[in-house]
Amino acid sequence: MQRIVEIEKFDMDEAVAETSLRPSAWNEYIGQEQIKKNLGVFIQASKKRAEALDHVLFFGPPGLGKTTLALIIASEMNANIKITTAPMIEKSGDLAALLTNLEEGDILFIDEIHRLSPAVEEILYSSMEDFRIDIIIGSGPAAQTVKIDLPRFTLIGATTRAGMLSNPLRDRFGMSFRMQFYSFEELSQIISQASKKLKKEIIHEACLEIAKRSRGTPRIALRLLRRVRDFADVASEHFIDHARTQYALNELGINSHGFDEMDLRLLQLLVNAKGKAMGLSTIAAALSEDEGTVEDVLEPYLIANGYLERTAKGRKATTATYEVLNIQSPEEKGSLFS
Ligand code: ADP
Repeated sequence: MQRIVEIEKFDMDEAVAETSLRPSAWNEYIGQEQIKKNLGVFIQASKKRAEALDHVLFFGPPGLGKTTLALIIASEMNANIKITTAPMIEKSGDLAALLTNLEEGDILFIDEIHRLSPAVEEILYSSMEDFRIDIIIGSGPAAQTVKIDLPRFTLIGATTRAGMLSNPLRDRFGMSFRMQFYSFEELSQIISQASKKLKKEIIHEACLEIAKRSRGTPRIALRLLRRVRDFADVASEHFIDHARTQYALNELGINSHGFDEMDLRLLQLLVNAKGKAMGLSTIAAALSEDEGTVEDVLEPYLIANGYLERTAKGRKATTATYEVLNIQSPEEKGSLFS
């Protein structure tokens, strides 16, 4: 079964549903105010100078709106955008083909940019800096280097793992922005806006109820909205009310903190460690997940909300972890005997 708060795995139906709900202009893009403000200035400045926008990097957990921002930038700049993801660019030739097909002012969006191979990254450096690439044709002594000039384009990179980006690549982005988790109020607005597009009214309390259980992430909020709408449709209700929302979310097994089963298993593991720190590899093995998923998908929300602490020795439970699981912390237990 798909985890309802699963953020990462690709699902075709979901991709189609998301496209129809994607904001196409700034006024529909809720939250991330600082990023919007800064980007707005840079876009205006480059339009005034009739230049391509400087390269932009977005980093942060999946589902927070990085691709959507890239699309809005393209529409603001009246630019064409090509969207790809790093694992699709296997060889230097693949990147060269993409770059040489760009036109002046075009935007190239590369998702998961931390996954580019070193050879491909090497080509990207010169293309970002000098708008030129060197391609080697042939092999052995007959090999020749051909220099190709590229049009001025804008690279928008997105990554869930800023730490895995090499320094030379990171330095070549003129702007980089860290995406923030969304507040309940912001998510609630996103849900309300999407419900209008879905032509299914929803009351404010129901929006907030979904927002609270969405791990601060629009992608999850929209997924939950679609599922709650299914429950309302089957019950032949014309709009989504609070009671139906609560019922549906409970049926879907999402608890009131927005944690799903995997979050709870992780928190339980930390609590079982009785105050000791746990290494990432131990946690990943215990959850049968890979380390990347634990670090990029599970942990950021728990850390941002104070349910998990990263220390030099590993991950630890916090007071809030014990509280949320309704378990006495080792300190509390100790104080009983002091
Ligand atoms: P990412 O690229 O970071 O994984 P996406 O840009 O694909 O995330 O966003 C996931 C979905 O959430 C999109 O369908 C979009 O409709 C919605 N979304 C994301 N951010 C916002 C926002 N700030 N306002 C409204 N909807 C948003």
